[in-house]
Amino acid sequence: MKFSLDAVHIEEGVRTTPLARRVIDALPAGVAVSYVADGREVVRPITGAADSFGAGKRQMTIMRRRSPFLMACPAGSSKFACCGYLVLTLASNCPMDCGYCFLQEYLGDNPGFQVYANYTDVFDELEKLRRDSPTRGFRVGTGELADSLAFESITGMSRDLVEYFSGRDDLTLELKTKTDEIENLLEIDPKGRTLVSWTLSPDRVFHNTEHRTASPAARIEAARSVLEAGYRVAFHLDPIIAYEGAERDYLELIERLFDTIEPTRIAFVSMGGLRMTPGLRSVARRRFPDDPMLVGEEVLAPDGRYRTFLPLRLKLYSVLSERIKRADAKLQTYLCMESPSVHRRVLGEAAPTPSALGARLAG
Ligand code: SF4
Repeated sequence: MKFSLDAVHIEEGVRTTPLARRVIDALPAGVAVSYVADGREVVRPITGAADSFGAGKRQMTIMRRRSPFLMACPAGSSKFACCGYLVLTLASNCPMDCGYCFLQEYLGDNPGFQVYANYTDVFDELEKLRRDSPTRGFRVGTGELADSLAFESITGMSRDLVEYFSGRDDLTLELKTKTDEIENLLEIDPKGRTLVSWTLSPDRVFHNTEHRTASPAARIEAARSVLEAGYRVAFHLDPIIAYEGAERDYLELIERLFDTIEPTRIAFVSMGGLRMTPGLRSVARRRFPDDPMLVGEEVLAPDGRYRTFLPLRLKLYSVLSERIKRADAKLQTYLCMESPSVHRRVLGEAAPTPSALGARLAG
């Protein structure tokens, strides 16, 4: 196990499920296990903890999910040129700890690391989706409220997902991660239906901000391995942080990526600038007061988020997208959570609608 836990809580109603059994069998010695009637009682902030969000990450709660697993991407709105995928929520929170992570604000009231033991119910939801829209394809991601592969070595959830998607030509599964926990994936033939995407950052961002994640070099190497095992791969340069020297570092990162993985074999590259609501910005700066990546002079944008000053953002996007296009003019590149006008100025074309972009990315 690559991340450490202080405790595991298991809801009484799920103690005999395969997931609970797998986790108990795989836990290292010394991690306390307790049983609770209702998992919702133990995922709240820990009273008296100096950093209750950080403490919550180290307490795994295995529980039943009471609401649907499938929902529209929370970033999706008519204001953004969004990629339009659907989100599967199989877990909530993450054992890694990135200084810019929006979960610090979004999960402030429920920081406990939740994993849903009834996750196979999602297959019923997906079958209904397919019946209701028989002519459409869907791209479905699990990496919104949690890293898709964190703790994969003890939960094994992605193994079931990849197997399910491998038999359905109208669905694509997207796993999004900053880990290199790919051992389970390498044992399954995805039959082209699973795409694994990695968020990549320069080493300076990794060292200062992306605590407990795999190094950028390890992420790229993991991508090369799953590509050889039959998975599609993609990359997110997101958030791009505009520190001094960022342009050089991000270009170097792209060189390292293309040296290891042929650009023509990459499904897409997304880019997005650092963006923080005032609430996220203040919690991030409080939790990581010495992080040089979190002290930039962003401006408050019309959407209520602090963002890098627009001309600087446009410059970084343009330089990076030109480098990507030079490597492979057909490599699909898109901007996440930017306006259609920014999309047009950077990529020279109007942003596709979310559904058109989603269909193109589904491959
Ligand atoms: S890996 Fe992703 S989900 Fe986990 S802390 Fe970092 S940004 Fe948040």
